Amino acid sequence: MAKIIVAGGAGFIGSHLCDFLIEKREKVLCIDNFITGSKKNIEHLLKNENFSFLEQNISEKFNVEGEIKQIYNLASPASPVDYQEKPLETLEAGSLGVKNLLEIAKEKKAVYLFASTSEIYGNPLEHPQKESYWGNVNSVGPRSCYDEAKRFGEALCVSYRKVHKTDVKIARIFNTYGPRLAKDDGRVVSNFIIQALENKPITVYGKGNQTRSFCYVSDMVTGLFALMNSQEKGPVNLGNPQETTILELAEKIISITKSSSKIIYNDLPVDDPERRLPDISLAKKTLNWQPNIGLEEGLRKTSSYFNK
Ligand code: UDP
Repeated sequence: MAKIIVAGGAGFIGSHLCDFLIEKREKVLCIDNFITGSKKNIEHLLKNENFSFLEQNISEKFNVEGEIKQIYNLASPASPVDYQEKPLETLEAGSLGVKNLLEIAKEKKAVYLFASTSEIYGNPLEHPQKESYWGNVNSVGPRSCYDEAKRFGEALCVSYRKVHKTDVKIARIFNTYGPRLAKDDGRVVSNFIIQALENKPITVYGKGNQTRSFCYVSDMVTGLFALMNSQEKGPVNLGNPQETTILELAEKIISITKSSSKIIYNDLPVDDPERRLPDISLAKKTLNWQPNIGLEEGLRKTSSYFNK
């Protein structure tokens, strides 16, 4: 039986995707170098006969044995704190890493799904963001290592499709949260939940009036799976169109966790996008997909995970 590669499979979204595919009795080859992923996320899968693991940096050339039918490439640092600490590794993952996996897809005639991001829209001047929007990205700012790597990755994907006829799909993933978010990677949902559970100050950056739209991880996984197994090539936005300000998020988390935390206001990071909201009409129409888990429910599940 041909295998499915999940690159970045020990990461947050990747490990949930591995679980989902194993549940569907697929054979999964998980690839990760633990730059931001964690062994803990896949420990429970190591004994499963359908699951194999390769410790490998995708930015270095490598081969895989046997038949491969699909490749999900989710391998990249994705939290602003992580990618700004590792800008060169992030740029390599989006360029050399994307190319090395595209070469494998070409050789094995596998379908390739590239995990791109809402960050390719930068600080968007169009709201909500449709796939047709070209974006507003600072090419030399602190986020550029990630934004431009992903933009280059998309360009590489469409060029492989054009030149080599590789079957390539592009998903643009909006903010995703849930169990297995790394507790120290600085993303807002994990930061706030941990602060709330410890009754410590909740660190809102800026005035907290910037917006994000948060998608629960199980919804993201079904979206990626639907795209991989559809006729759609994308780019397709995947995310939850329930927009919230960061201040509202803080208040919601304080209430859900019954925390005595107070909100404090820190400096807004440079180039922090002011608002972000996916237009998911394309995903609804072509993938028959939309998220099922609302913010309140998802935050409850996530806070009970962090509580444990
Ligand atoms: N943020 C915040 N407090 C934190 C962490 C993040 O107010 O402790 C804000 C951050 O400035 C941004 C939003 O929350 O406006 C989402 O940040 P995150 O790092 O999760 O992801 P981004 O959407 O910026 O990639």
